[in-house]
Amino acid sequence: MPTSETVDAVDALLSLQEVDEEIDRRRERLESLEPELSDRRQHVQELENRAQELRSRVEEAESQLRQRERTVKAARETLKRLRKKADDVQSMKQHKAVRKEIISAEENLDSSEDDVLDAMQEVETLRSRLSDVEEELEEEREDYEAAEADVATSRDELEEEIEGWKEKKRVLEEQIEDRLLDAYRKIRRGTTESALAPLTPDGVCGHCFTFVPPQRRSEIRSGEKLHTCEGCGVILYPPSREEDEDDDG
Ligand SMILES: [Zn+2]
Repeated sequence: MPTSETVDAVDALLSLQEVDEEIDRRRERLESLEPELSDRRQHVQELENRAQELRSRVEEAESQLRQRERTVKAARETLKRLRKKADDVQSMKQHKAVRKEIISAEENLDSSEDDVLDAMQEVETLRSRLSDVEEELEEEREDYEAAEADVATSRDELEEEIEGWKEKKRVLEEQIEDRLLDAYRKIRRGTTESALAPLTPDGVCGHCFTFVPPQRRSEIRSGEKLHTCEGCGVILYPPSREEDEDDDG
């Protein structure tokens, strides 16, 4: 039977591994928080850009509308002036010439008024699109702020939990001899797979099935000493460990 010291060491290492997995899971969750938020922030930013672009298009359209209104006003004045002139002319020839100018000015006014209506339509369309985007932006901003608050809460919770698990980790690490702790750390750095494996009844590594030399094998089995696998580096523990665990329930 393995010595109780070895059993304790294996227990401590397995517990340490569980603790490290708890910490890893929380760190992964922490790392996933920021990207989720940044997607939302990007969406808000896109909407802000669209709203900004629409605002300047509205301004342009309004400025064009004012310009066309001035054109209409000028066309009306021209027409008024021509009509007055028509009243004053003496000869038929002059009258005909003014008449021609009036027709042309009337056409001019009609077309200017059409331009004003077009410009008004354009302003209205753009304002309505802007208002839709601003509404959507408002909602997205609120959602983003809520998500940001959630993320802050989750982050605090996760960090607090990690601190708790780190404290457990420190206690466990004190119970493990340096040689084993080094071996454990080395393998945990390289992979997220188990850092421990049982020696199989056939005497090979339970993780990578590499042959374990007889001397080491018997030391592991007797619980005299724990060794790492020469193939994959995991810490090998006595095969009876698993039966012990079953017995313990
Ligand atoms: Zn191995």
